[in-house]
Amino acid sequence: MTIRELTHFIGGEHVAGTSGRFGDVFDPNTGEVQARVPLATPAEVEAVIANAEEAQKEWASWNPQKRVRVLMRFLQLAQDNVDELARLLSSEHGKTIPDAKGDIQRGLEVVEVALGAPHLLKGEYTESAGTGIDVYSMRQPLGVVAGITPFNFPAMIPLWKAAPALACGNAFVLKPSERDPSVPLRLAELFLEAGLPAGVFNVVNGDKEAVDVLLNDSRVKALGFVGSTPIAQYIYETAAKNGKRAQCFGGAKNHAIIMPDADLDQVADALVGAAYGSAGERCMALSVAVPVGEETADRLVAKLQERIADLRIGTSFDEKADFGPLVTAAARDRVHDYIAKGVEEGAELVVDGRGFVLEGHENGFFSGATLFDKVTTGMSIYREEIFGPVLTVVRARDYEDALRLPTEHEYGNGVAIFTRDGDTARDFANRVQVGMVGVNVPIPVPIAYYTFGGWKASGFGDLNQHGPDAFRFYTKTKTITQRWPSGVKEGDLEGAHVADTDHFVIPTMD
Ligand code: NAD
Repeated sequence: MTIRELTHFIGGEHVAGTSGRFGDVFDPNTGEVQARVPLATPAEVEAVIANAEEAQKEWASWNPQKRVRVLMRFLQLAQDNVDELARLLSSEHGKTIPDAKGDIQRGLEVVEVALGAPHLLKGEYTESAGTGIDVYSMRQPLGVVAGITPFNFPAMIPLWKAAPALACGNAFVLKPSERDPSVPLRLAELFLEAGLPAGVFNVVNGDKEAVDVLLNDSRVKALGFVGSTPIAQYIYETAAKNGKRAQCFGGAKNHAIIMPDADLDQVADALVGAAYGSAGERCMALSVAVPVGEETADRLVAKLQERIADLRIGTSFDEKADFGPLVTAAARDRVHDYIAKGVEEGAELVVDGRGFVLEGHENGFFSGATLFDKVTTGMSIYREEIFGPVLTVVRARDYEDALRLPTEHEYGNGVAIFTRDGDTARDFANRVQVGMVGVNVPIPVPIAYYTFGGWKASGFGDLNQHGPDAFRFYTKTKTITQRWPSGVKEGDLEGAHVADTDHFVIPTMD
């Protein structure tokens, strides 16, 4: 197999890396290296920022409708090329084609919402807030903003960050995951083809060295990060120290509470899809099932076992596969290490996915579905994110016992409850300390015009991704208080507060 050499995308062009440092991009189906991605030097990242800063000035001068027309054309181009994008995504990530299309589609839905920017960017206006005084506010772009994104949604998350940022008039520097950078590079080409001025959307590939430049360069005004919690916290703290805006989303441990009145066949179907789909490499994957009561638990575990036996694991291009390989051998080995730890810690291993081998693809990064029962809260397989096809069952005595688990867990991304009882569901949605809640919905990713964000160690920063928060995050508000001399009659300023200097008059607003 010839190994492709990837590039950066700077100022509207593919640019070869100069560092001499590369990361391997694997084909997870075969285990072979299929491409090498350049890891940028600090000087290369600085050049990207300079380029973006220059391009942003013109882009920000375009009126909002003209800007969103570019996004509209991009949307059409991405839809026209969805099959090619999905194959590229699937070939580097290992998720199945339908999953890859979902990844792209969920990203494009945020582009659709960004088309509303002319409306969402409108300011406020108060006429006659004081005598002869009008007050208004405007939202202005920040300038150059950056996105640092994870491997597990190489289309969706870059688009969640870039579409609102661009619609607001910012230039965008994307530092995608070095494990599957080809789709982000292809998106950059499509933005250019859609009419985005060169330099407004750039892709710089790299690792910590590149990220540290984005964190420390004063020309970068905001950082949007998605990835693991330790890095999210590092980015948030460093960005804040450097006076930048940051929203950083981290890892997860999503629970599903199963009440005794739930339809257990429906629940088992939902859990199998939500725990094992995309090989568990989703930040909203359900990794902890919490059946309430021993009888519910026994019945649920039996149903899960039946369904796991029917799962088909295949290459990412196998149309019938339920899920494909993990992204790298290191990711698969990490999952297998957790399974070994679970056994050591005394959890009951009901189904062991470690022995799975796909005939003809013996070197692919596959793991079968794993199910643990009788997991307890002290075990590392309960406390830590595994990020693989592993479902753990923690048995709860009653509803309060079940509610306590996601509420007290370090992570707080998503959670679901399965019940037929409206009171229980309502109480749960109200009291659980988690950012996104599903009621009989296993993966409650909010629709694009709401916001997405976890709580506790799953999210650092004040504003969420997409929805109205994105437009606040990517703009700064300026408030103007104006008085025109012709609008003020004699005597109007009586009682106004006169500051120390003659010309600095603050009129009262009554
Ligand atoms: P990761 O943290 O390894 O990498 C994320 C990004 O950070 C990549 O671009 C990577 O190059 C960069 N990076 C890695 N190490 C760095 C360092 N030391 N300094 C600076 N930058 C660094 O995450 P990943 O393995 O690509 O993605 C999986 C993780 O992302 C999981 O923990 C998953 O839960 C999380 N995730 C969270 C959400 C969410 O919305 N909360 C969504 C998707 C994924």
